[in-house]
Amino acid sequence: MSRGSGATDLIWRDGKLVPWDDAQLHVMSHVVHYGSSIFEGIRAYKTPAGGAVFRLREHMRRFQDSAKIYRMPLKYSLDELCAAVTDTITANGLDHCYIRPLAVRAGQEMGVLPTNAPVETFVICWRWGAYLGHDALEEGVDVTVSSWRRAAPGTFPTMAKAGGNYLNSQLSKMEARGDGYVEGIMLDVHGHVSEGSGENLFVVRDGVLYTAPLSASILNGITRDAVVAIARDLGYEVKELLMPREFLLIADEIFFTGTAAEITPVRSIDKSPIGAGKRGPVTKAIQERFLAIATGQQPDTRGWLTPVPPAKRS
Ligand SMILES: *Cc1c(COP(=O)(O)O)cnc(C)c1O
Repeated sequence: MSRGSGATDLIWRDGKLVPWDDAQLHVMSHVVHYGSSIFEGIRAYKTPAGGAVFRLREHMRRFQDSAKIYRMPLKYSLDELCAAVTDTITANGLDHCYIRPLAVRAGQEMGVLPTNAPVETFVICWRWGAYLGHDALEEGVDVTVSSWRRAAPGTFPTMAKAGGNYLNSQLSKMEARGDGYVEGIMLDVHGHVSEGSGENLFVVRDGVLYTAPLSASILNGITRDAVVAIARDLGYEVKELLMPREFLLIADEIFFTGTAAEITPVRSIDKSPIGAGKRGPVTKAIQERFLAIATGQQPDTRGWLTPVPPAKRS
C-alpha cells in the first residue's frame, strides 16, 4: 500500500490509537457503495503556548449534527469527541496540522437501508499547507462559475458535512481544473451564488461584506462564522444576501473561507478581474486578523482556541 505524503504515525479508531497502515475498511463496507459517511475538517495552529485547535467544539458539534441528520448513531459524547482530537494530535507529536474526524457505516451487508451497518469513528491528522496552492493566500486564485449547481433544498441536506455531498463538489472541481481554473463557484438551484466545492464565499462592495444565507444551499461554515465576527470587530458591515451571479462580476473583492482554504482571495472569475485583480485591502485585513487569532498572536477573546497537551517525554 502506498502511504499518503502526509502520513502520520497513529489514527484514532473507536477509542484506540492504531498504526496508520492498520486503519483499513472492508470493500463491502456500506460507505464504499452508498457514500454513507460524515466528517469534519479542523486545523490546529502553532501558538506561542504550543499547539491549539481552532474552534474544536463547534466542529465536533457540527459532526454530531451531521450524524443526527443521517440518523447515524455516534458512541461518543461531545467531550469525548473533542478529547479524541487532542489525543490524536498529541500522540502524533504535532503542534500544527489538519484534522479529519470521520464516521462511516461499515459492516458487510449490502442494501440501501443503513441501519444494520455498524458505525465506526476515526480521527486522522496530517500536515496540510495552503489548500488552493502555494501562493494562493497572497496572490489570489482564478476561478470559474461552475455549470454544476449545489443540491436543491429537499434533495441532499447541504447542512450536513457528508461524504456523499462531495460527489457534487467533485464534479464542480474537476470541471474547473479541466478548464484551467483553481476552483468553481456553484450557484444554487435558483441561480443564486452558493459556494465553492469546499469553501464559503464572501463578496466585498463599497466596504460592505456579503455572503450567501443558509437557504442558498451552503454548508454552515465555521470559518464563515469567524469571518463575520472578525469583520464586525474591524468595523465592517456584514450582510447575508441571495446574490445574483452578476453580483460577483461587480465586486471590489471576493474571497473564499474554509478550514482547508483558510481565507483565500479570488482575483478573477471566468477571466474577468475582480476589483484590482489582486488581493484587496478588506480581504487582507480579515486574513491577518484571522491568522493572528488562530496562531495566538492576538488575544483569544471568544475562546476559539483549545490547547493541545504536549506529549509526555519518557
Ligand atoms: C467544510 C465546508 C466548507 C467550509 O467550512 P468550514 O467550517 O469553514 O471549514 C464550506 N463548504 C463546504 C461544502 C464544506 O464542505
